[in-house]
Order: sequence, then C-alpha cells, then structure tokens
Amino acid sequence: MAADRSRSEEAGHLAELLRQYQYEYYVLGHPSVGDLEYDRLLARLSALENEFPELKKPDSPTQRVGSDLESGFPEIAHTVPVLSLDKAYSPEEVITWMKKLPEGTEFSAEQKIDGISIVLYYEEGVLQHAVTRGNGFVGNDVTDNVRTIGSVPLRIPYNGSLAVRGEIYLPKQAFAAINQTLEVPFANPRNLAAGIIRRKQSREVASVPLEIFVYEGFFEVPPPDHKTVLEQLKEFGFRLNPHTEFMPAGEEALRRFIERETQNRLRLPYEIDGLVFKVSSLRDRDALGYTEHHPKWAIAYKFESPSGETVVERIDVQIGRTGRMTPVARVVPVEIGGSVISNVTLHNQDYIDMLELSVGDRVQVSKRGDVIPAVEQVVEKNEGAPIYRMPDRCPECGADIRISGAHRYCPDYNCPAQKRGRLKFFIGRDQMNIENLGGETMDFLIEKGFISSVEDIYLFDYNRLAEYDGFGEKKIALIRNGVEKSRKQPFAKVLVSLGIPELGPKTVSLLIDSGLNNIDLWLDAAKNRKKELFDTVKGIGSSIADSVTEALNSPEMMRVIEALRKAGLSFEAEKKETAVNVHFTGRSWCVTGSFDAFKPRDLAKIEIEKRGGRVVSSVSAKTDYLLAGHDAGSKLDKAVAVGVSVIDEKRFLEMLKEDQ
Ligand code: AMP
Ligand code: ZN
Repeated sequence: MAADRSRSEEAGHLAELLRQYQYEYYVLGHPSVGDLEYDRLLARLSALENEFPELKKPDSPTQRVGSDLESGFPEIAHTVPVLSLDKAYSPEEVITWMKKLPEGTEFSAEQKIDGISIVLYYEEGVLQHAVTRGNGFVGNDVTDNVRTIGSVPLRIPYNGSLAVRGEIYLPKQAFAAINQTLEVPFANPRNLAAGIIRRKQSREVASVPLEIFVYEGFFEVPPPDHKTVLEQLKEFGFRLNPHTEFMPAGEEALRRFIERETQNRLRLPYEIDGLVFKVSSLRDRDALGYTEHHPKWAIAYKFESPSGETVVERIDVQIGRTGRMTPVARVVPVEIGGSVISNVTLHNQDYIDMLELSVGDRVQVSKRGDVIPAVEQVVEKNEGAPIYRMPDRCPECGADIRISGAHRYCPDYNCPAQKRGRLKFFIGRDQMNIENLGGETMDFLIEKGFISSVEDIYLFDYNRLAEYDGFGEKKIALIRNGVEKSRKQPFAKVLVSLGIPELGPKTVSLLIDSGLNNIDLWLDAAKNRKKELFDTVKGIGSSIADSVTEALNSPEMMRVIEALRKAGLSFEAEKKETAVNVHFTGRSWCVTGSFDAFKPRDLAKIEIEKRGGRVVSSVSAKTDYLLAGHDAGSKLDKAVAVGVSVIDEKRFLEMLKEDQ
C-alpha cells in the first residue's frame, strides 16, 4: 500500500523537525527539546518509514542510527584534490613560508585536527557519498557509517554540486571511556576512530560519538576566498572549528596564534597534531598551485617532529676546540625522517638531568626542525642504572673541569682534544679551506707528531708521508697543492681561522671595514686595551670585544700569529675593489679557441673573474660576450646565431687595460 498524502506530509514534517533538532544537538551543542520528545518523534518517523518504505530517503534523520547490513566500502574516485600538506616543525619555517607570499596576503590559521580525513559529496542538497582520503585519488565509500555522525548534515539548503573536506574525530573523553572497556587499548583517539569508521555494520558506528569539523568547500561557482567558503558552509549547517582565525601575513600575529594554540592544546576536548595556515584568496591559491604532494598555498605546523625509538648504548664526552665538553649519546642506529641516526647530542648535564637519562634506556629521538636529532624522552628505563653523570676531569688530558653557565670546560689550552679541534677548525671549509687535507689525514699527522700547531701545516714536508701506507705520490701532491692554495686566503679568512671565541666572519668583516685592516692594528688595539676601537663599531657587542682582546693578548696566540706570518699567510686586507669594470663586473663570458697571450686558456678566465666577471661553459642568449681565439668552433657559430658579442684576443687585451 502506498502512503497517502497525509502520511507522507507527516513524515516530511517529522523529518524536518528532527533535522533541526539534530543540528541543534550535534552542531550547535544546545538541543531545544528533551531526549524523550526527540526519541518519540524519531520512533514515529521510523515506524512510518517501515510501513511505507518509499518514504525512507537517504537523508532521513533515521539513517543516523545505522543498520545491520554489511557494507564493503566500494572504491570511489575523488573529484576534488585530496592532497597532503607541506610540513613545518618550527614557527620559523612557517614564517619563511609566509614571507614568500605577497605582502598583505590574507590567510587562515586553523587547528589541525588529528582524526580521519573525509570528503563529503553533496548533489542537489543531499549527501551522496562520504569518501575516505585513500591514496588521494581513490578512497573508500563509507557513507553509511558517516551518516551516523550527528554533526554531518545529510541535507543542505544548496542545490548545486558541493564537495566538503573535513576531519572526523573521537573526542578525548569518549576515547578514554571506550578504551577502558577494551582488552587491547588503542594508542590514541585517531587510531580508534579509524577502526570505527570502517566497521562493517553502521549500527556499531552509530553507538560511538564521532564528531566532524569541516575545513574546506569546493563549490561549482567558487566564492572569492576561503573566509566566504567557511561562512557559506556554516550557513548550510556544517560544524566548523571555532578556533579558526583570519589574519594578514605578518610575523607577530602568526607567532601569537602559534603560541596560544600550542598552550591551549592540551585543554581541548579533542586532539590536534598541529596548526594549518592557508592563503585565503582562491585566486591566489590558483596562482600558487600544487606540487604532486601538497598545495603550495598551505602549510601545516606540526607539534611533533618526526621521531623514532632506540636504545642508548653508551654516552661519550666530546671536547671541542674551546674546551667545551658535550655529552653525545651513541644509540642503536634508527631511521628517522629519512636518515639513519646513531649519534645524538645531549647538550649538557642539565639536559641529561632533565631527561633522567641512564645508559641502556630506551628513548624517543626526534629530528627537530628536521635537522638536529634530539632525545625527547625516556620511554623505558634501564632499571637500576644510575642517571649519567659527566666526568669531573677531562677524559683526554685529565685536567679538572671548569664550569661556566650550563657547560663544562677542559681548562687546558694544551689539551690534545682542544688542539685537535683547533687544527680541524683551521683547515675546515669555512676557514682556510685546505683542500685534500681532511680530518682523517689530520688525525694521522697529529698522531705521528708531525703537526701540533697550525703553523706546522705550512712547515711540514709532506713528502715524508711517502713512507706510510695510503700516501701515494698523487695523494701527497694533492695535499701539497691544497696547502699552497690556502696560503693565498685573504686576511679575513685567516683571522676567522684562528678560532678566537665569538669572532665569526661577519664580525671580522665589520671590523676590517671599520679600518682594522691589518693584524698590527688589531694587536695594538688589544695590547693597549683600546676596547673602544671594537666597541664603537656598530654591531659589535662588548662581550665580543672582551673576547678578542683577551685572545690576542695571550702569548700563545701572539706566537701563532708570528709563525703564520712567517709562513706567508696574509695579515693585511687587500685594498677594496670598488671600481666597477664595465666589461666585466656581473657580465657573463664564454671562452673558446686558443690564444697567444693566454696559455693555457684558463689564464684568460682568471683575468675575467678577477675583474668580477663570470665564466660560463656554453653560449646562450643570456651570455654577454664570447671570447674567441684561434680555431673557434661551434660556440662561435652559436654566438653569431643568437647575437652574442664576439671578442677577439686583441680587443680582449684592450678591455683588460680599460678595466684595470
Ligand atoms: P597529513 O596527513 O599529515 O599530510 O596532513 C594533512 C591532513 O591534515 C589532511 O588530509 C586533513 O585530513 C588533516 N587536517 C586536519 N585539520 C585540517 C585543517 N584545518 N585543514 C586542512 N587539513 C586538516
Ligand atoms: Zn682536556
């Protein structure tokens, strides 16, 4: 028997009322009717639908209770992009991302809900499919289960096609209550929710209080920006996260948001695993586009860095060139965020005390900011083992340690570890950059007693290495070559290489520019304690001035400087090249053929580079000049074809004279 008109009107009226009550209850959180009344209306509608099945619609409020039918979650292709998000692990990384956006760009700051990603597809106002993220292209249809979630609207006042992205989650309290009853509890609400959303019988899902927050809408005719999208979704009856904020790109507001949300996160009734920042304007989003993996217009700031668990096998203490002692945990190798970690710095004793770390403990190691591995916490104690204590003596030289601030130092300048540190620093890439003389060779030279102070690097006869295994003629020649080349390093590099505490390349160049352009002026300033000399220079703090003064007054440092000066290193700044060489500064040159005055041809290249030019290996329309000697071949043809100026040797010599 078909339903008569009054029955179908009654069903329609009941459905409308119940929909309103469900919205009030699940989305707004304040129901306007009591439970009994609600149940009565629902039971009545259910009875009508059972009697007249044609009244049962997929968006009926009765569908929230689920059924006993098993469903197999067919695969469905997404029609909107369901990508991952780019990640940042520190506020700085978010700021770097933001700074690349045009000034004043408005963006949203949102909580990153730690749940299950879902896409809700609506047609003509009715929820058709709820699809998991899957692989981003194809997901599982879990519509029957999602219908049981009270805050998912089954019907919306919008007739076009609409896709809505959101996160289904289980509130912390419900998680705790359910977990209590389980024999094998879940680690977190997300894992539990993920299991529930794939239950075969939707009635089981209906008994669990899952929730949803939606955060993205894809309209047929898109509104201008994310803000309007969210407002629309709210009007349609979706549940939106109230913590979302909109702000113009700017460091301060962003830091404030991060700080506040980070502090509040533990008090939230649900779990978040980070924050998300998104450009608001949809046009700007289109312009920024996507990579294969994530949109370029959004970034997720994750509270936790990638991490893994491992065991501390040993703790060593390393002594740096300044004598500072750093405890280092040697751990069982573990892969974290794409690289294998076996050493993790422990910073100092305070840090170890804070962790209450003992050798043998199982620890959680993270890669903060995606770079430096750090021990986050002990996850399993090596019972009975004492908390590790750093030694009171230098493990290398036995000297009693000195404590300064949070750190311990070996006080002996002649400590072998410090010497080794100074020598390795001196030859390092950012200092004298001695090519072909690496750390291992240096260890060998120190061990044999051939080198014990930096000047020895220039005095030692490397041919003596020939009698040792592993030092062939070629290798020795390479080392000598590297050492010779380094003799030409400019004054600024030499100064930095001395390893004076706090005297880095920036400070050195500031001081040289201010007039301290040879070592005698430095030594004089230090000797006469002309601290003003350092202090007056903008950007140089007085602690740097103190450190430099003290270091340059030490007899050992004076001796080293004299010895290096004798060895021919540069202790005077070259006159500043300020003249602009019209043919060379910033110009790109390609060189081809052979020359009379430049044999080998590289000599011509050196002249170009000396004058601020750039030498490139092939000709393109962007090349400024082609220097063509005898027998120039295809490069000459190319240059003529693309209109690059061709310079012969005679003209080149004139240019060199013009730009001295
Ligand atoms: P991930 O899975 O770590 O790459 O992070 C991306 C996922 O974060 C998305 O697929 C969403 O499921 C989830 N998510 C949670 N909250 C938000 C939000 N407010 N905006 C965007 N994505 C979110
Ligand atoms: Zn020592």
